[in-house]
Amino acid sequence: MLTGSTGFAQTTLAAALMPVLLLACSATETRAQAASRPDRRTARPATSAPDLTAELTELKGTWLKAVGRGHAAAIRSPFLVIIDRDEDAARQWLTETVFGSTRRFQKQYMDAQPDKPMVVLLFSGQKNYRRFCIDVLHDTDPPYYGFFRPTDRVLVMDINTGGGTLVHELTHAMIAFDFPNIPAWFNEGMGSLYEQCSYQGDRIVGLPNWRLPALQKAIEANKLGSLEDLTSTDFRGANMGMNYAQARYLCHYMQDKGMLEKYYRAFRDHAADDPTGLKTLKEAFAPKTLADVDMEWRKWVLTLRFPPR
Ligand SMILES: [Zn+2]
Repeated sequence: MLTGSTGFAQTTLAAALMPVLLLACSATETRAQAASRPDRRTARPATSAPDLTAELTELKGTWLKAVGRGHAAAIRSPFLVIIDRDEDAARQWLTETVFGSTRRFQKQYMDAQPDKPMVVLLFSGQKNYRRFCIDVLHDTDPPYYGFFRPTDRVLVMDINTGGGTLVHELTHAMIAFDFPNIPAWFNEGMGSLYEQCSYQGDRIVGLPNWRLPALQKAIEANKLGSLEDLTSTDFRGANMGMNYAQARYLCHYMQDKGMLEKYYRAFRDHAADDPTGLKTLKEAFAPKTLADVDMEWRKWVLTLRFPPR
């Protein structure tokens, strides 16, 4: 879920469908198969990450005052985490999930460095989460699990639902620095991919998740639109839930083929000429046609299992 720039009231269907998920971590290293096409990304100047600790310290004071007593904070540039528990809990979420996922994401995908602070506000359960949204943000209808507000890079979460939603929103927060004009289908495909993930050495890897069974049913009933149409569809329209699933498992497929990182960079670097990413998608799979890839992708989706057997 990604909030728009106009306020907090958001479409909540996708978040409402999201079950409790825990971020799974494993220590097993797997190496993605190298993509066969040459890297055609344009060179970007290397940048170093600025230390935002002073700015984060100031934000910490402001937000702790806003949330009131009984909250603790932890800082590690570019993140401030505030939680309605103790400092150990704040530090643990910051280190393991926030920093653990984003440092891997950054290494895999990003050229740009986050140069502005991100604030992660975690609440233990719906009561505290909703009270904060209503009293502090004046939002009476927040998405069920949490959201990312891009205007000031604030992420708000009911963390009792697990780390999956947090990693989804963190993916949006990171992409906003590196690929700000990313279209919804690819932004939500990437965010959804990491709702269920593992750390494999220095890599973050998406795993099958709760969005799979409905997608498999739609494929079996021949009711799913084409991959080509996905890139130009009204993503948050009538078929929003299925669009999320299709985009997620297209990203998952490219990940497992060792193509996702290269596609992300090629799409990002050519988005001015190819804003939907369709042309770059076709090039990524060439000489296969996208229609042939679509058939292979459907067969591959039907081989996946969730929950795992
Ligand atoms: Zn999202």
